[in-house]
Amino acid sequence: MTETTIMDQIKSRVLDIWTETAFSNISSISWFDDLKAILSDFFDVEVANYYIYDAGTFLQLKWNHSLTKKINAIKWIEIESFFFENTFTFVPLLQKSYMTDGEVSILLRDMENQPLGLLTMESTSKWKEFSCSSEVNDFIFLLSKLVQIIRKTILLTHQEHQYRNLFNVTKMFHSTFDIGQILEGTLNAIQDAFPSFHSNLILSNDQERKTPIPYKLFDYTSERPATIEAYVSGEITSELATDLGVRLLNVPIKGKQGIYGIMQMSTPLDYLFSMRQKEFASLLASATGNALENAKLYIQSHRLVADLQLINETSHKLNMNLSLEEMLLFLRNQLMKSFHPEQICFVFLGEEEEYQVSTASSEFFHTIDGQLYIQLVVNHFFKMSDPLFIADFNRLADLKYEYRSLVAIPLKEQNHITGFSLVLHREPYFFSFDSFKLMQSLIQHSSIAISNSKLRHKLQEMVNRDHLTNLYARKYLDKYVETSLENEERGVFILLDIDNFKQVNDTYGHQVGDEILKKIASIIQKRTDGIGIGARWGGEELAIYFSQMTITQGIEESKQIIAQIPMQTNPSVTVSMGVSVWEREHKVTFHNLFHYADMALYEAKNNGKNQMRIFEASHLS
Ligand code: GH3
Ligand code: MG
Ligand code: MG
Repeated sequence: MTETTIMDQIKSRVLDIWTETAFSNISSISWFDDLKAILSDFFDVEVANYYIYDAGTFLQLKWNHSLTKKINAIKWIEIESFFFENTFTFVPLLQKSYMTDGEVSILLRDMENQPLGLLTMESTSKWKEFSCSSEVNDFIFLLSKLVQIIRKTILLTHQEHQYRNLFNVTKMFHSTFDIGQILEGTLNAIQDAFPSFHSNLILSNDQERKTPIPYKLFDYTSERPATIEAYVSGEITSELATDLGVRLLNVPIKGKQGIYGIMQMSTPLDYLFSMRQKEFASLLASATGNALENAKLYIQSHRLVADLQLINETSHKLNMNLSLEEMLLFLRNQLMKSFHPEQICFVFLGEEEEYQVSTASSEFFHTIDGQLYIQLVVNHFFKMSDPLFIADFNRLADLKYEYRSLVAIPLKEQNHITGFSLVLHREPYFFSFDSFKLMQSLIQHSSIAISNSKLRHKLQEMVNRDHLTNLYARKYLDKYVETSLENEERGVFILLDIDNFKQVNDTYGHQVGDEILKKIASIIQKRTDGIGIGARWGGEELAIYFSQMTITQGIEESKQIIAQIPMQTNPSVTVSMGVSVWEREHKVTFHNLFHYADMALYEAKNNGKNQMRIFEASHLS
C-alpha cells in the first residue's frame, strides 16, 4: 500500500465540502468554515479570511456580507502587481501587524485567468514548507475549482430566488391595471431583494394621483443631478451622496414608450452593487415600467370610450328638439355627472355689455358673489374668444376668491360668441386638463343645438305675435285662455275697440292710425306684464286676458286703461271695453267668455263709447 500524499488527503477533504455545498445549499459561508478546518489540520493555520471577487473589487466574506455594508473592500488594481508572477505572495497592504509569521495571500483564478477570490491566512511554518513543494500549485488549482463550484451553486440559488421574486411580481403585474397595486408590488419586490436598503419610488407627475402607496413626485428643479441623468438617459446611475451619508442607485422605470420615474435605493457609502444586483434591479424596474405603461394605456382608452359615450349621448339628446331650458338643464346634469363642479351656470350675452343668466344655473349665480365671477368671464369674452381654464384663482390675483378652480367655455354661433358655460370649485387644481378638453368638446357639440333651439324659440315668437303691434296673435290667446280655464280659479277677459277709428284714419291717414294702434298696444303690454297677456283680436279690436284676477280688480284695471289711452295718444283717441269674468264655480266655455265680452262691448258703444261694460257669467246661472 502506497503512502498517500498530503495533497491526496486534502483532495478528499475538499471533495467533502464540494459535495456538501452542491447538495445542501445551506449557506454561502459554511464552506469556508470547512476549508478553515482543513487549513488548520494540515498547516496549523488558525487565522484565515476569504475575499470574494466581483466587479474589480475583493469583498470580505462575512456572515452578513449581503445584508450590511461591504467592509474591507480591496480594489484589484491596488494589488494586481503582486500577482503578475506569483499565485501566492506577501502583500504589504494586507499584512496584519499581530501576525508574527506574516500573512500570505493566495489568488484564485478561473480558466480565463480572471480573479475568483483571495485567500489570506497566517503564514505558518507548515505552510512555508508545503509552499516549497511541487504540490502547492495543485493545491491552489484545487481551491480554485472548489470556489468556482461554490460560486456557481450560490449564484444559481441566489438567482433562482431573485427570479422567482421577479416572476411573481411580473405575474401580478399581468393580472392588474391598478397603478397602486403595481407600485406596491414593486416596493415589496425591492424590499425582498434588498431587505436592508431603503428604497424610494420617484415618479413623473402624470400618474394616477389617488394611490395610498408612498412615492415622491419627480421634480426637475429639485432632483439630484444623478437622478435626473438616470431619468433622462434611461441608464442606471449611482452617486456617492456624502451629504446624505449614503450611496444612491438610480434605476430608471422604463416602458416601451417612455420613462415613468426612478427606483432609487440608498445603501451605505462603501457598499458596492454587484453586476447581478444591478441587472436584477434593472429587470424589476422595466417590469414596473411596462406594467405602468399598460395600466395607463388601459385607463386612457377606458376614459376615451367614456368621453365618446358622453358626447354621443349628449348630442343625441340635444337633437331631440328640446326647449332651450330643457336643453340647458340636461347639459347641466351631464356636466355635473362628469366633472362634479360645485357651481355651474349658462350665460347669454346681449349686443351691449349686458347678459342674461339662464334659469338652469345654480342659485349661487343669482347672488352678488356669484355675479362677480360672471362679470369676470363676461369681460373676458368681450375681449377674447379663448376658453378660460384657471387652476388656482388665488395665484392670479391678490384678492382671495372662494372658488379657486374655474373653467368657462364660450357658446358660439358661427364664430360669434353668444354666451358661455361656467363651472367653479373651491378646491384649486380641481379640474384636470383632460376634463377641460372634454368639457370644451361637449359644449362645442351642444352649441349648434342651443342656437337652433334659440332660433326655434324666436320663430315661434314670430308666429305667436302680431307683426304691427307685437301683441300676441289670436291663436295664441285662444290657447292661453283655454289653459287658464282648465287649470285656474278665475280670470278676466276684455275686448277693446277704438272709438271712431275710421274717422282718425280718414282725417290723419292710415299711418297715423297705425302709430296709435301701436301706442295702445304698448300701454296694454305694460299693464299686463307678468299678470296676463294682450292680443290683437283683429283690425282695431284688441283683447286682454288677466288670469287669476277677480271682478273688482278687473274693473279697476279696465278703468285705468280707459283713462290712460286718451292721455297718451296723439291725436287723442278713446276706447270702449267689454269685460267678462269667470270663476271656477260658474265655469264657462271660451266661446261664451268671448261672446259675453262682445255683448258688453256692444253695450259700451251704444251707451256713448269711452267706457267699459261688464258681463258676469254668474248672472246667467
Ligand atoms: P266705432 O268703433 O267707434 O263704432 O267706430 P269705428 O270707426 O272705429 O268703427 P268701424 O268698425 O266702422 O271702423 C273700423 C276702422 O278701423 C276701419 C279701419 O279703417 C280701421 N282699421 C282697422 N284695422 C286697422 C289698421 O290696422 N290700421 C289702421 N290705421 N286702421 C285700421
Ligand atoms: Mg271695430
Ligand atoms: Mg272702432
